[in-house]
Amino acid sequence: MVMTDRSTIFALSSGRPPAAIAVVRISGRSAGVALKALIGRMPEPRKAALARVRDPQSGEVIDEALALWFPAPASETGEDVVELQLHGGQAVIAGVLDALCKIEGCRLAEPGEFTRRAFENGKLDLTRVEGLADLIAAETQAQRRQAFRQLKGLIGDRAEEWRRELIKALALIEARIDFSDEADVPENLVEPALFAAQLLRSKIAACLADSGHGERLREGLVVAIAGPPNAGKSTLLNRLARREAAIVSPHPGTTRDVIEVHLDLDGYPLTLLDTAGIRESSDPVEQEGVRRARSRAAAADLTLWVTDASVVGSAVVGSAVGEVGQWPPNAEVWLLRNKIDLVGAGDPRTESPPTMKNGINHSFAMSAQSGLGMDSLVGALSGFASSYFGATESAIVTRGRHRQAFEETIAALDRALSHRASGSEELIAEELRSATTTLGRLTGRVDVEDILDVIFRDFCIGK
Ligand code: GDP
Repeated sequence: MVMTDRSTIFALSSGRPPAAIAVVRISGRSAGVALKALIGRMPEPRKAALARVRDPQSGEVIDEALALWFPAPASETGEDVVELQLHGGQAVIAGVLDALCKIEGCRLAEPGEFTRRAFENGKLDLTRVEGLADLIAAETQAQRRQAFRQLKGLIGDRAEEWRRELIKALALIEARIDFSDEADVPENLVEPALFAAQLLRSKIAACLADSGHGERLREGLVVAIAGPPNAGKSTLLNRLARREAAIVSPHPGTTRDVIEVHLDLDGYPLTLLDTAGIRESSDPVEQEGVRRARSRAAAADLTLWVTDASVVGSAVVGSAVGEVGQWPPNAEVWLLRNKIDLVGAGDPRTESPPTMKNGINHSFAMSAQSGLGMDSLVGALSGFASSYFGATESAIVTRGRHRQAFEETIAALDRALSHRASGSEELIAEELRSATTTLGRLTGRVDVEDILDVIFRDFCIGK
């Protein structure tokens, strides 16, 4: 994508046809010319106009549509923008896109190019661009709320405000450096600047002290379903996902890979991982499955350890804990004693283990096949997700990129503060400047060329 390329772009911005309506957008200097060529007139700005859309060369009517004209700069991209609401048929869309290709200076947009132009024209900062990408990708209501807050500048505005505060602090020190010979420049400008730096440091640190919940909300809480082969892990995943996501088989070791399912539990996102039957094996393919299962599950927030309760000795917590002990200490572990339908009433195996010790946080007696006990498991999962996210729905750091920018800013501020003793104005100024730059990178104000492609790559064509 070439930044200096100022050709007029167009694309289908709505979903896959056929559909009731299709939206084609045009942005750039020739957008008005293109609209006139297609409908023969210019509608009033920002007012929907019913119009016949014609091929500019043959004059053939392609469709009747609603046309919207947004002259620059009051448009989504900051350029002249046209929006056509067409009938959402394949041939209608193809006809209109073909017609646009024939108009001089117009070409098909690349993925994310409309948004990129909005960024380049100062309509959106980078954190808002990310919020927009997240809003489009949001699968649950909690994700949507977080994405919308980002789109409205929750982190971007704060970072910009902090950057301005830093620039003010920096100006104090630079005044000292530049005019140190002049009698009317006060001596004590460094202290107020360092005080501001200290204050800012604590504000940023407070944002980072959210245990990564914002990032987790974007990606979903990771719940690993683990346990010995044939315990019923895939059956459980399928029941939770209510579809056939994993192959259920009566032969041990058939789930070789990690299977991932996204769940929406009361608005909170949860990613379920069905791990390969964790057991030692001499088969290299199976060994790889085991290795991947372990590493994915090692990053999980919760491990559901499934055992076959009908097998004598399997429900003994101690034996499960022996294996559970390999999981990370910060993840919760729930023991699911599955296939309880095979165990007769009154059998001691239906009882919950007497003590929840050695890393087991909860125990459930259930049957993934019959559905027995599933309600209480789903209720507990939903409670786990809402207590995890509920308190921190206002997290402002939602990506590793934000975290890194804040951490780098704090590091620069710490270096500036460490020069307090020596009183070196030049060194303090240099570190404050570097902190300003890292905050500027967060919103895309300074030298971000290297990360732009990564960010815009996530968008689809027409956005
Ligand atoms: P995995 O290897 O842990 O993924 O186990 P699967 O989900 O493939 O299940 C292994 C076998 O146990 C299959 O034949 C399932 O139908 C059966 N199974 C799973 N859950 C239950 C259950 O709750 N009750 C009974 N009776 N059978 C089950």
